[in-house]
Amino acid sequence: MAQEVSIFWHRRDLRTNDNTGLYRALKNQKIVLPIFIFDKNILDKLDDKDDQRVTFLHNTITNLQETYKQNGSTLKVFYGEPLEVFKSLANEYQIGSVYTNHDYEPYAKERDYEIRELLNAKGILFYSFKDQCILEKGEVLKDDGKPYTVFSPYMRKWKSVLTDYHLKPYPTEKYFGNLLQTDETSPVPSLAEMGFERSEKPIPNNELQEDIIKKYHLQRDIPSMNGTSRLSVHLRFGTVSIRALAKAGVKLNEKWLNELIWRDFYFMILWHFPHVVNNAFKPQYDNIPWRDDVKSFNKWREGKTGYPIVDAGMRELNATGFMHNRVRMIVASFLTKHLLIDWRWGKAYFARKLLDFELSSNNGGWQWAASSGCDAAPYFRVFNPELQTKKFDPQLKYIKKWVPEFESLKYQQSAIVEHKFARERVLKTFKEALGNKMVKPIV
Ligand SMILES: Cc1cc2nc3c(=O)[nH]c(=O)nc-3n(C[C@H](O)[C@H](O)[C@H](O)COP(=O)(O)OP(=O)(O)OC[C@H]3O[C@@H](n4cnc5c(N)ncnc54)[C@H](O)[C@@H]3O)c2cc1C
Repeated sequence: MAQEVSIFWHRRDLRTNDNTGLYRALKNQKIVLPIFIFDKNILDKLDDKDDQRVTFLHNTITNLQETYKQNGSTLKVFYGEPLEVFKSLANEYQIGSVYTNHDYEPYAKERDYEIRELLNAKGILFYSFKDQCILEKGEVLKDDGKPYTVFSPYMRKWKSVLTDYHLKPYPTEKYFGNLLQTDETSPVPSLAEMGFERSEKPIPNNELQEDIIKKYHLQRDIPSMNGTSRLSVHLRFGTVSIRALAKAGVKLNEKWLNELIWRDFYFMILWHFPHVVNNAFKPQYDNIPWRDDVKSFNKWREGKTGYPIVDAGMRELNATGFMHNRVRMIVASFLTKHLLIDWRWGKAYFARKLLDFELSSNNGGWQWAASSGCDAAPYFRVFNPELQTKKFDPQLKYIKKWVPEFESLKYQQSAIVEHKFARERVLKTFKEALGNKMVKPIV
């Protein structure tokens, strides 16, 4: 058998700089082999052959491979089921230990548990570290030791817990000499080998644009402007360091930092309340009799509701894989309140289409709009698409870009539901389904 190696397993941390788990592996071990697995359990569930995330991943892994090559090493890349991959790795190498970073999603928790069991049974230690958020799990708790379910007090506590230590980068490159040295390059499986095609949709780069962040509080709500960071996909896959971004947030703009705290908040909610994946955070909201209206749902998906701001958002999503946050709120409110369609349908469609799809934030955003979530919009808050347009797209720049026909008579007569009727219907339906409980303050 070959020499003993330790393994670093990349998952949602696809960078070599300032990477907690990689740093720990390299600092503590002499020979570290980095690996990545294109996970069949995840890829097989994707509907679209040209899924933009797979193209993004493929590009990123190819670049990561190059970085390791430049440092005399290689990234060993697999396409398969993680448990099987580790079984074969354990046969091929004498593994001392396996290092990785935490992943808070239910599937990942189960996967990591099984792999840890497998490795421990062979006497191999499995180490996992916090890397994708600043403060996690039980690091920000209420005074009674329970997790927060309301954002504002959570945010205040988050800020009081934060120290310089949490933002300090891990100087991974100092220990690159401990990477397994080899001339061999492990091939990256092609998209075709994994049953996919290249997506031609644009992918934003991972540079932090300081001028945008400085003006963030002024421009963040205007969808026609380039007023937000567009870093969400890079945070999702770890192609930027959250510590570097939070540090920039502290320095440049507190409003933007607060958005990064929302991200930690939703990771924390998913960790403590995993039932939110398929159920309402507030159980009484599972009593709402949603309408199984496939026809309207399809119109919403296609951006053909006859409401210009809603259609613009859905068309932006379908064409680019991105939708501005303000418009995400509007289209989610429209689906759940105007059309009275289950938030889970909308959440699933976003999960299929968003380049930055993140289970925790997507779920949080949808349950916020449907009023079923922790710290959600009150159930009687029904966004008026016209007023939202006046406020956030007053010159109709965003609408003109995505719905050029919006002034035509045909388009103007195509609204699939009338606003006043829809508003009254949802208020009545929610009121009846929730009974008195709806006025109970959120704890
Ligand atoms: C219905 C709905 C679904 C959403 N689904 C997702 C999702 O799948 N993935 C996702 O990353 N975000 C999601 N969001 C949050 C938000 O819309 C996006 O993070 C943001 O639009 C990404 O653009 P940006 O990178 O320019 O963000 P910026 O405004 O520059 O914010 C910086 C970063 O902060 C985080 N962030 C910002 N707003 C939020 C928020 N409300 N909740 C949690 N994190 C936030 C993101 O990581 C973002 O990249 C959703 C919001 C709603 C209302």
